[in-house]
Amino acid sequence: MILLFFMMSGVPVGLKTADAIIQSSNVGEEAHVADKSSDAGEEAHVAVISLHDGKEVAADDASDEALKADEDRYRQLREQMVNRQIIARGVENRPTLGAMRNVPRHKFVRSAEQRQAYMDSPLPIGYGQTISQPFIVAYMTQLIDPEPGMKVLEIGTGSGYQAAVLAEITDQVFTIEIVEELGDWGEQNLRNAGYDKVQVKRADGYHGWAEHAPFDAIVVTAAADHIPPPLVEQLRDGGRMVIPVGSPFRTQNLMLVEKRGEDIRTRNLMPVRFVPFTREEE
Ligand code: SAH
Repeated sequence: MILLFFMMSGVPVGLKTADAIIQSSNVGEEAHVADKSSDAGEEAHVAVISLHDGKEVAADDASDEALKADEDRYRQLREQMVNRQIIARGVENRPTLGAMRNVPRHKFVRSAEQRQAYMDSPLPIGYGQTISQPFIVAYMTQLIDPEPGMKVLEIGTGSGYQAAVLAEITDQVFTIEIVEELGDWGEQNLRNAGYDKVQVKRADGYHGWAEHAPFDAIVVTAAADHIPPPLVEQLRDGGRMVIPVGSPFRTQNLMLVEKRGEDIRTRNLMPVRFVPFTREEE
C-alpha cells in the first residue's frame, strides 16, 4: 500500500482525463487506479509499442540501427503522451509542449520502469520517491511561463526529468536534491541525456540557492507544509513560484506564488499529491 501511495504521488487528484476520470479520494481508490495504470496496455490511452518489433536482435546488431528504431518509437510514444495526456487537458504553452516532446523521459526512469516511461502516471525512482506524472510536469512548467534566458530553480531533482524539461527552454537551470544518491542519479541522467548545463546541488532546498538568486521562477516538486520564506526571498520581483502545499500523505494544493515588490500573491490551483518535502536536521 505504501508503495502504491508513492506511485500515485505527483498527480492531480480528481482530474478529468481525455478518456478516463481519475477519482482518488482515499488511499484504497488510489491503489485501484495505480493497479490499473501499472497494467501496461490495458488503458486505451496507454500505448505500448514493443521495441525491435518483438524480434530477437543479435548482440552485434543491437547497434545504431536498433537504437535508432527505439528512439523513433520513443518519439512516437512522446507525441502520443503530449497529445493525449497534456494537450487534451488544456496545456497549450508552446515552449512547454516543445520541451515535453523533446525530453527522452525513458532516460529518467530506472530500467525496470523504462517501458512505462510514457504512461499517464508517476513512477517509483527509489528512496520512496517518484518521477511525477507527465501532465503535472507540463502543467507546472506552463505555470511559470517559461522563456529562454530565464533563471529557474527547482527543488527536488529526483530523476532530473523536470529539470531537463526546463533545460529544453532555458540554459539557466539550478536544481537541489536532499537525498544524496538521488542527486547523483538525477545528475547522471541529465548528463546522459545531454543536459550539461543544469547545475545540481545536494542539500536541503528549503534554503534555496542564494549565490544564484534572484530566480525568475522556482518550481518545487515536493509538498511542503508551508511556503519556505527563503524561496520567496530568492524570487525576483515579478517572479513566480509553483509549489504543492499541504500535509504529507494527504491531498495538497498546488499553489502559484507571485511576487510583486512587497506584495506576495498566492493562488490555489488544483488538488494534487506529492511526496513530502523533507528537512535536514538542523
Ligand atoms: N522533480 C522530480 C520529482 C522527484 S520527487 C522529477 O522530475 O523526477 C521529489 C523530490 O524532492 C524527491 O527526490 C525528494 O527526495 C526531494 N526532496 C524532498 N524534500 C526536499 C528538500 N527539502 N530539498 C531538496 N529536495 C527535496
